[in-house]
Amino acid sequence: MAKVLDSFLQDNLEDLKTRGLYNEIDPLESPNGPTIKIGGKELINLSSNNYLGLATDDRLKKAAIDAVNTYGVGAGAVRTINGTMKLHLELEETIASFKKTEAAIAYQSGFNCNMAAISAVMNKNDAILSDELNHASIIDGCRLSKAKIIRVKHSDMDDLRAKAKEATESGLYNKVMVITDGVFSMDGDVAKLPEIVEIAEEFDLITYVDDAHGSGVLGKGAGTVKHFGLQDKVDFQIGTLSKAIGVIGGYVAGKKQLIDWLKVSSRPFLFSTALTPADVAAAKRAIEILAESTELHDKLWESGNYLKKGLSELGFDIGESETPITPVIIGDEVKTQAFSKRLNEEGVYAKSIVFPTVPKGTGRVRNMPTAAHTEEMLDKAIAIYEKVGKEMGII
Ligand SMILES: *Cc1c(COP(=O)(O)O)cnc(C)c1O
Repeated sequence: MAKVLDSFLQDNLEDLKTRGLYNEIDPLESPNGPTIKIGGKELINLSSNNYLGLATDDRLKKAAIDAVNTYGVGAGAVRTINGTMKLHLELEETIASFKKTEAAIAYQSGFNCNMAAISAVMNKNDAILSDELNHASIIDGCRLSKAKIIRVKHSDMDDLRAKAKEATESGLYNKVMVITDGVFSMDGDVAKLPEIVEIAEEFDLITYVDDAHGSGVLGKGAGTVKHFGLQDKVDFQIGTLSKAIGVIGGYVAGKKQLIDWLKVSSRPFLFSTALTPADVAAAKRAIEILAESTELHDKLWESGNYLKKGLSELGFDIGESETPITPVIIGDEVKTQAFSKRLNEEGVYAKSIVFPTVPKGTGRVRNMPTAAHTEEMLDKAIAIYEKVGKEMGII
């Protein structure tokens, strides 16, 4: 190894470890269901993004197996060479129909989708108004575009309006875009889309909503944009096929002309191999299930409300979440990590989230209840929270 690399790695790993920020990854010995097995021990899982339990659904497994039998395991090429199978187009039609947009384009992941879509439209002569709590993939997608990034205070509509006015009136930029998460995953709060759309209309901003945590959860499953009835007002609706949908992949839903442009210009579409047949078939089946019935969506909200009620009645601070995401705010970083560790020892898998992912002094354990959790599992989790909370003087 080069000496410079060796000392770089040594110094930086050491630094993370001394600051308590070095993350040890726990390998699962089971599917990622409502309970999981780690180190031979069964735990109630409150950490996955598998909101609807679809990652282990038999209907999706069957669709994936059938697709492997028919099409094999790999797509074999990028979409524009000969990696586009009929299945890919069917998935995109299914997404567009569920989202009530003219068209959709699928990518290999939600992260990839943000790398692809932003820079296909924005360049160094443009500006992007980006909420300060936007996801890392949005931040990287913005950087890749070379547009001027203007940070907007979290969900602060006065700040957005002032910065939109300044950017559009400055004459410095050809185009200005506003980008926001639909649902912010650390607190579970929902973007103020009606106000954002109003400001966008006033200043002719391009609108871009990344609904990774809203799809399958809000708008009867169709997402945050549908929840507010704004399908015709948002230019880019981004989603992932890897959270509520339970598989892997990302997509943009929008006007046909936009999707046509992304298909000829977005680099991860042009230069990275297409999603596998199994992924595509399983994701398509998941969206069909959501379109047929709100059963899983309703069950998710029941689980979320049940957990929130139980934890707040015990006296925990569960923040202001508007979705099933349930943070338990502890505050101090070291105490938050110790709390999560004790929960784990008692049988609940819920990860601590601390600075710099969230502001200093707002360390929290984040809980993601799902449609697959039974009341019995949630009761057990709440009882463990009570035990550890009292033991550590938090409640
Ligand atoms: C998780 C997430 C992504 C990344 O999606 P993947 O499909 O996991 O790559 C993108 N944007 C937001 C807002 C997310 O929460």
